[in-house]
Amino acid sequence: MTEEFLTELETIIEKDRIFEKEPMKKHTTFRVGGPADVLIQPRKEELPGVLELCRRREVPFYVIGNGSNLLVGDKGIRGVVLEMSAGEEAVTVKGRVLRAAAGVMLSKAANVAAAAGLTGMEFAAGIPGTVGGAVVMNAGAYGGEMKDILVSVTVVDEHGTTKEVKTGDLELGYRQSNVLKNHWIVTEAVFQLAEGEEAAIREKMNTLAEQRREKQPLQYPSAGSTFKRPEGYFAGKLIMDAGLRGYRAGGAQVSEKHCGFVINSGEATASDIRRLMEEVIAEVERQFGVTLEPEVKMLGEF
Ligand SMILES: Cc1cc2nc3c(=O)[nH]c(=O)nc-3n(C[C@H](O)[C@H](O)[C@H](O)COP(=O)(O)OP(=O)(O)OC[C@H]3O[C@@H](n4cnc5c(N)ncnc54)[C@H](O)[C@@H]3O)c2cc1C
Repeated sequence: MTEEFLTELETIIEKDRIFEKEPMKKHTTFRVGGPADVLIQPRKEELPGVLELCRRREVPFYVIGNGSNLLVGDKGIRGVVLEMSAGEEAVTVKGRVLRAAAGVMLSKAANVAAAAGLTGMEFAAGIPGTVGGAVVMNAGAYGGEMKDILVSVTVVDEHGTTKEVKTGDLELGYRQSNVLKNHWIVTEAVFQLAEGEEAAIREKMNTLAEQRREKQPLQYPSAGSTFKRPEGYFAGKLIMDAGLRGYRAGGAQVSEKHCGFVINSGEATASDIRRLMEEVIAEVERQFGVTLEPEVKMLGEF
């Protein structure tokens, strides 16, 4: 990372939102990951300038939300990480339409919806990601997914142009979209919700939170379900049936509580987690002929 690049960056973004050699373990729910050359927290109006600078100086950049679906390598990331934190932008509600900046946590958006007596977002309240990350992943739980409530998103494309994209043009499928393929950065999302009773909405959110606490190893750092659900199977059950409950590689472990979760049991490195994932994939394939596909996205150098 050259001094010239950093000096130019400081003409676009205030210094207190630029972090050099930033440990990515502070920005991922796995709590692993080496340093990013630079991590910035850009406001949406700063994105075109940042992208232009990166393109001109040939510096690669990567976008993250809350890092709750990411495994960042121990050697970190060469280039710039754009962390879409929420800033001051609020979640706004007009009628049954909720609009949220990409960096807003889903829990916050769902709480604003509840307070406005709007139903439809309860399923998302316990997913520890941002609105932007949830759109990219078409995040879902308990029978709901982003696709059901999303109307449109605002994105900045690789040339720095801002445009609106309708849900139908996002190719939302099971834990996927075309956002990454198109090199878009989501800056805002618009949701269509329905009228409901705040008390009933909150009760549903509490019930789902309770189910999460019962089934998931929430006391350990993880990235949620490590693998996608293979058609006709459940990843957690396949892993359990393969005899891998509690199986370890260094500090990484297949959760005893929910075999679909790989957890950081304390001192795991990203390499431990990746090795464990590879061993789980190989063993499940050997025993059942089913190839598990990671849901977690890998980033950086291992
Ligand atoms: C305990 C736990 C439980 C979980 N439960 C669920 C669940 O029930 N259902 C579920 O679907 N997921 C679940 N997850 C996974 C994760 O929370 C979701 O995938 C979430 O949507 C990721 O959001 P994020 O902001 O953390 O994105 P990140 O992990 O930061 O990024 C995910 C991907 O999106 C990209 N990205 C992020 N923001 C943007 C943006 N603004 N513009 C363009 N690209 C962007 C990143 O480059 C990356 O490729 C769980 C995770 C944990 C730790």
